[in-house]
Amino acid sequence: MEKAMAFEFTDYEPYDFANRRHIGPSPAEMEEMLAAIGVDSLDALIDSTVPKGIRQEEPLDWGKALTEREALDKLRATANRNSNYTSLLGQGYHGTITPPVIQRTILENPAWYTAYTPYQPEISQGRLEALLNYQTMVSDLTGLDVANASLLDEATAAAEAMAIAQRVAKSKAKTFFVDAECHPQTIDVVKTRAEPLGWTVVVGDPLTELDASAVFGALFQYPGTNGHIRDFTDAIAALHGENAIGIVAADPLSLALLKSPGEMNADIAIGSTQRFGVPMGYGGPHAAYMAVREAFKRSTPGRLVGVSVDARGNPALRLALQTREQHIRREKATSNICTAQVLLAVMASMYAVFHGPKGIQAIAQRVHKRTAALADGLSKLGFAVEPETFFDTITIEAGDQREAIVKAALGEEINLRRVGETKIAITLDERSRGDIVEAVWRAFGGDMAFDDMAPRVAIDEKQFRRTDYLTHPIFHKNRAESEMTRYIRRLSDRDLALDRAMIPLGSCTMKLNATAEMLPISWPEFSELHPFAPADQAEGYRELIDDLSDKLCAITGYDAISMQPNSGAQGEYAGLLTIRAWHRANGDEHRNVCLIPTSAHGTNPASAQMAGMKVVPVKALENGDIDEADFREKAEKHAENLAACMITYPSTHGVFEENVRTICDITHQNGGQVYLDGANLNALVGLARPGDVGADVSHLNLHKTFCIPHGGGGPGMGPIGVKAHLTEHLPGHCMTDGRPGAVAAAPYGSASILPISWSYCLMMGGAGLTQATRVAILNANYLAARLADGYKVLYTARNGRVAHECIVDTRPLNESAGISVDDVAKRLIDCGFHAPTMSWPVAGTLMMEPTESETKAELDRFCDAMLLIRREAKDVEEGRLDRENNPLKRAPHTVEDLVGEWDRPYPRETGCFPPGSMRVDKYWSPVNRVDNVYGDRNLVCSCPPMEAYDEAAE
Ligand SMILES: *Cc1c(COP(=O)(O)O)cnc(C)c1O
Repeated sequence: MEKAMAFEFTDYEPYDFANRRHIGPSPAEMEEMLAAIGVDSLDALIDSTVPKGIRQEEPLDWGKALTEREALDKLRATANRNSNYTSLLGQGYHGTITPPVIQRTILENPAWYTAYTPYQPEISQGRLEALLNYQTMVSDLTGLDVANASLLDEATAAAEAMAIAQRVAKSKAKTFFVDAECHPQTIDVVKTRAEPLGWTVVVGDPLTELDASAVFGALFQYPGTNGHIRDFTDAIAALHGENAIGIVAADPLSLALLKSPGEMNADIAIGSTQRFGVPMGYGGPHAAYMAVREAFKRSTPGRLVGVSVDARGNPALRLALQTREQHIRREKATSNICTAQVLLAVMASMYAVFHGPKGIQAIAQRVHKRTAALADGLSKLGFAVEPETFFDTITIEAGDQREAIVKAALGEEINLRRVGETKIAITLDERSRGDIVEAVWRAFGGDMAFDDMAPRVAIDEKQFRRTDYLTHPIFHKNRAESEMTRYIRRLSDRDLALDRAMIPLGSCTMKLNATAEMLPISWPEFSELHPFAPADQAEGYRELIDDLSDKLCAITGYDAISMQPNSGAQGEYAGLLTIRAWHRANGDEHRNVCLIPTSAHGTNPASAQMAGMKVVPVKALENGDIDEADFREKAEKHAENLAACMITYPSTHGVFEENVRTICDITHQNGGQVYLDGANLNALVGLARPGDVGADVSHLNLHKTFCIPHGGGGPGMGPIGVKAHLTEHLPGHCMTDGRPGAVAAAPYGSASILPISWSYCLMMGGAGLTQATRVAILNANYLAARLADGYKVLYTARNGRVAHECIVDTRPLNESAGISVDDVAKRLIDCGFHAPTMSWPVAGTLMMEPTESETKAELDRFCDAMLLIRREAKDVEEGRLDRENNPLKRAPHTVEDLVGEWDRPYPRETGCFPPGSMRVDKYWSPVNRVDNVYGDRNLVCSCPPMEAYDEAAE
């Protein structure tokens, strides 16, 4: 009895206090791992890995780390400082209702949000099918042949469309026409994109001011930002007559009722699918779409999902055409898009799958009917309403009553948009019920009942949609929530995401996306704000953005942050434009040369090209480092015109180069600025700061280092940090500071995912973040040490260490056993793993980054799988396995391989259950190896008829 009464207080720290939530290995495991590497302590490992010359002097510190509960309380208090008014502000952002089944089983489901970009098609069939549904939906609604799998936002999609037009148009004009009825942010982003490329943008009325012979293309908004529905058939015909391209930016919900862009003979349609169930989120993330005519399918930017077959001839999906290998076109690339908006495209596609064509039509009709009632009421009150025909947006002449009306609406917690000097525009949406319409009438001084209004149609019959859409069975089968839940579950079960196993991707930092960090993004105070809502309704966002910016400045050593870029590549582009603007302000317009090492990420040269710079490649040494002599020679040779260099640190080969300061000095001495690609900040946070080693600008991938999940290929955030001298040249935005240079539709990019990175910083604290970096380096070095038993690890630094990732050479297996890097990757699937990054930055190798979040047990499981594969390759080398017909070449194995005749020279069991892999919890690839070439020869980018699946099952 006595013994049971006495206890000692434990010094064990629950996960929440010791950051065990985020840092995988336990202190005891770390000891074992250090022993395996052969160093005494983590300090010693870090000292021997990170060069002294670059280490930061002061530790990262912003006070005590918050516990989960404290952080959530802080986020709650911050969220409460935002006001959820009803925003009828339109301009491409609309209230929408996310079907709860989609919110819970997709947006809030790690099986969906932690997936990686579907470069490994076999383990991505679920999200590829959802994206194929998305492409089918977009191509149906727009009436165009081929749609891609999402772009970043409507404004950048418009800029991408302009770039396509310039390339494919036979017209030699250098001018692009933009409809004055385009959303203002779209006009700005298009102007930003056109300027460095030397194209002139003319804004005007397409029906009266478009001179088709003077342009290579034109962009029209449908319906217009102030509500006008115009038919562009004649304008597009005129453009075609002059070999120019017609682009329509169309609201997809309106297309349920209106004649499609395809029926107007548009070449390209773009727009945002936000109002298909994706909350406004103070600007993002949402999926923009692009659809093109058949002839231009090879020119589309971003990814394109297509149908192919697997090794058994069954249908299998994969990324089509050039979109598998983003990085190969480099400076010849015409777009830098890499991370897009997959998770949001999946949500929008499921909205269409759930509602079906009749549901979408009903939603569109309801929005329209209420807008017509609103207009009629306002006419009754004596206000002049335009246009005569509209979908969901009307503009009212309010004269000198305007401010009083806007104020009265604010009293009703409704935001109305000011247009010109005296007008008000109102856009209704799926959420606007009769009581909202009545409240708007009250603001205009009327006391009327919504139910007294007679319904009417305010669309010209000539403009009615007369073609079908969403006819594929997939849009008809899932009306019942039980079916919908199961469909979504079936798809996610086909995929391998972080909720099943580590994803050891080099250069992509697939770390934990902690649940506590994810919770706030669903809160309406963060998710439902309109990006152009008055600033005093977004004070919570202001606080969050300011504090996160301060912390990112402390982490990077920069002086200011722009949150506008909504991907890493957009950050590069924004950063280079900032450098460009600085040179111009100094009278150095001619400075346009950008030095980029050949080892750089493919987005670097593509972004430089978009920023109007001339890319001069710099050699890499045998060990992957920048060739300093070549760098100096090129910098001096181009000293007159040097604008910038773009370097990656640690290098793309995963090494801390010792001479990074020298590279920065050389650049500055020759008049250039240093762009340091900060996507790999996971090796630096708390240890070294780009701003201290001499860089002037960097982007940070918050969807890598700062815990925003990959979402299967987006969303992302690529804010840029700059030194003080560049601050005034950061991108402006027409809705905030009114300055030009916008690179994204919304002023703070995809603002609604910033709470994830903020809560990560709050819960880790400066010391926790630093420890995460140290453990990331430990995990990578442990991986390298264990794999050294079977493979050569390339590009270690002088003392044999790697940074936060390592490159494992699988080329010898190819020489000795004919086993390709592909075979290794696919055999890893049999073992339950996602393959590392393949053939980048070195062809035929695997680059792996374990991150700090993985435990020793998981690292061991992965190393065991890699070493098993090495043994199997040895069996091939030594003749124990057939050279062609072996478990590596036939991987991945599926349940189909468990039944039927077995005519292979190795046992069925070896194929399906590699020694040491899990049996009860085995992940089964849903398809055998996918035939990429077949799919490119027979390009199908929308849902194939159901019979195709039936035939396959026979
Ligand atoms: C991921 C990455 C990028 C591109 O980022 P996105 O968000 O995909 O556009 C750029 N550079 C490096 C080194 C990267 O790893």
